[in-house]
Amino acid sequence: MTDGVGSVPQTLPEIQAEITALRRRIAELECAKQRLEPPTPPTTEGRPRTVLSLVNSDELTATLSAFVRRVTGVLRAEKCVILLYDDAGRALVAQQPALGFTAEELADYRVSIDQGIAGDVFRESRAIICHACEEDPRCQEEALGRFAVKDSLSVPMVMEHRNAQQQVVERATIGVVHVFNKRYGAKFTEEDVQLLSVFARNATAILSSARPLLQLADEKRRLEFTLESMTSGLLVIATDGHIQLINAAAQASLRLASRAVIGQPFTAVVDDAALRDFLAQALAQGGDLAHEITMGERICQLQTAAVRDHRGQVTGLMCVMHDVTDLRNLERLKSDFVSTVSHELRTPLTAIKGFIRTLLDDPAGAYFDQDTRMEFYGIIDAECDRLTRLISDLLNVSRIERGQPLHLQYGEVDVPACVARAVHLQRSYADRHTLEVELPDALPPVIADRDKLDQILTNLLGNAVKYSPEGGVITTRVRREGEALLFAVSDQGIGIPHDQLEKIFDRFHRVYSGDSQRVGGTGIGLFLVKSLVEAHHGAIWVESTLGKGSTFYFTLPLSPPGAEAAPRASS
Ligand code: ADP
Repeated sequence: MTDGVGSVPQTLPEIQAEITALRRRIAELECAKQRLEPPTPPTTEGRPRTVLSLVNSDELTATLSAFVRRVTGVLRAEKCVILLYDDAGRALVAQQPALGFTAEELADYRVSIDQGIAGDVFRESRAIICHACEEDPRCQEEALGRFAVKDSLSVPMVMEHRNAQQQVVERATIGVVHVFNKRYGAKFTEEDVQLLSVFARNATAILSSARPLLQLADEKRRLEFTLESMTSGLLVIATDGHIQLINAAAQASLRLASRAVIGQPFTAVVDDAALRDFLAQALAQGGDLAHEITMGERICQLQTAAVRDHRGQVTGLMCVMHDVTDLRNLERLKSDFVSTVSHELRTPLTAIKGFIRTLLDDPAGAYFDQDTRMEFYGIIDAECDRLTRLISDLLNVSRIERGQPLHLQYGEVDVPACVARAVHLQRSYADRHTLEVELPDALPPVIADRDKLDQILTNLLGNAVKYSPEGGVITTRVRREGEALLFAVSDQGIGIPHDQLEKIFDRFHRVYSGDSQRVGGTGIGLFLVKSLVEAHHGAIWVESTLGKGSTFYFTLPLSPPGAEAAPRASS
């Protein structure tokens, strides 16, 4: 039998391969079952008496239960257990039902075929009587001591295949029947061996007939489990258009309240017109089609393939539905990103080019005095820095995307100096704003990467300026909170819609509404800031009221775990 489910197939070829393999296995088992079924005389009710009565494992359990009760009764023993050979583990495994064992004892009862009395009986295919188990080393190997076993009788379970002339053509030992503790002080005898051997032959016949059917049921369960576990939707439709199978993911995609649609025509079940048309077309063409449709807010990639029976004849159509909404959204964000980055690169370049052209047109300084010229040089310098920052942000994002760590150069950082630098940098862009700083008299030293802290503060202050086009007060506060520093950058700008508060930290995410849309940006700044804060083992979050302003908070532990405080010069 199968011993579990491996990885769940997700692609159409994988699913097809899985279904073909399972079908082949089921066909093999059907053949095995037919081989094993003895010729069956009709019963009194006129129906053939076949092992089909044992298809249900409850019935098998009841039959075996009666068997072990009868065996212990006839042999006057206390306990009886059937051990069946498990090919995978080269072991004999105790089966339910047994008599005289608890469920826990049975669950652990497993013996290698190279060990114990059971191993000898199995390998040598002969009965063994043991009159004093506590003295027999084979019993200890088999750990029968913990079952309070005094004496035992064990016989092999031998399965025989006979030809039409009733000659045995194949013989295989499939397990062992153990009986323990003869009652009333008596001993197991040769007569008991004969009796138990007859019982064992009956049990073998029952089990070997039922086994392929149980295996069949197990394979079927495995197939169902595999299909249910798929994240993609799967729909199988017969050639006449009736639904044969639908998994949980497909049920959710089609927004069906229940799975009671099996047997109904797909045209009556599938609401979405585009999907209905596609399925009809695929059914008419008899197979392989691929298409992408939008169902409500979701984008769904559809792939169909013909379903064939074991003779290769088409019996229907299988349709796999992949939800590609997130993928398509990311693609859209990326393509928006390319155009916004181009725009962001062009803006400083245009300014640089404009001021240089102006200066070149006035070589003798006839139009612009020295102070104005210096102001132009200052703007060119600041725009070059902006370009450098943008390019380094882009490189950092691609590092993070490739899964490379952000290397931090830890050292003791002078936080007030960092804040002062970042605020100073913004002054040239913040003509309508008042930039304020609130720091306590003394701040403890923090171990951090100074350049990265500069980058975090510059990004947050840059956004505070950018997203308060009407101006206002921008305040940077820092205070100690336990073993960390808490930073806060507040503005009185346009604010952020409530449902976007988490998303703005995602890469390429920009708020596409209202005033935000009019401000240039790439959507990578906060993604980087969050990555940098988290690389320091800190946390970042935002509080905002639409139209009133936002406050970005982040923490930095005073001494992050793993930071070797190799102090470097910090200003
Ligand atoms: P961008 O380059 O677009 O500014 P960010 O990653 O820095 O990229 O910010 C992501 C989005 O978060 C911005 O597009 C903007 O919509 C929003 N945002 C960031 N900071 C603020 C702020 N201080 N006030 C309002 N919205 C902000």
